[in-house]
Amino acid sequence: MFATRYDLHIHSSYSDGSADISEIVQRANILRLEAIAITDHFWPSVGSQRGGKNIIENRRTDIETVRSDYPKILILDGAEVDIQSNGSLVHVAGGLDQFDIIIGSFHWVSDSTTWASALIKALQNPQFQILGHWDGYLSSYREEDGRAVAQAIADTGIAIELNRKYISEHNEFLEFARDCGCVFSLGSDSHSAESVGQLDYQRKLAEDLELELAEPSTLLSLKSA
Ligand SMILES: [Zn+2]
Ligand SMILES: [Zn+2]
Repeated sequence: MFATRYDLHIHSSYSDGSADISEIVQRANILRLEAIAITDHFWPSVGSQRGGKNIIENRRTDIETVRSDYPKILILDGAEVDIQSNGSLVHVAGGLDQFDIIIGSFHWVSDSTTWASALIKALQNPQFQILGHWDGYLSSYREEDGRAVAQAIADTGIAIELNRKYISEHNEFLEFARDCGCVFSLGSDSHSAESVGQLDYQRKLAEDLELELAEPSTLLSLKSA
């Protein structure tokens, strides 16, 4: 099945990962992944000291090279961008439109109410297609906030990520989200070549909870919509 043969959250040495783009793609090729997204952070998002336009353009040149070396793998030029408390995304040099796919993530600790309020604002005019590690920085969780967020996400078609590094602690949220019609994506959040595609636990979770995994093409079409 196509949907599970992907990893849509990978950091390279262009941010805080250790592997360069070609090492990441070699690993994806060994694992026979059909699609990957290279989703570095760029300054001032948390996770990178660097973020100038030339870094992003050099990275794009590397991505174009691996695309021609591995034409069977869909290789997306992505970014992971911080969601701020006012619901906007942190600035990226050259803007967000230049990327194929954006992961919006919280990288600051928030309680349930603050989280829900920031996220619901961000979802009013969403600039991202995947919500990264949704509860990775949550200090508390209330069911009513989870329900409001799940409903707002369902209206957008954005995928809720099942992240390898930040295992969801609130599976009931995933179940509400599923019942509201949300889709999900798989992301290793890998910072090394070895952890690319290590998503067995997340695949099993999706299967056990009957979560629908989004196709990459569907997520890409959200961007142009
Ligand atoms: Zn993150
Ligand atoms: Zn990440």
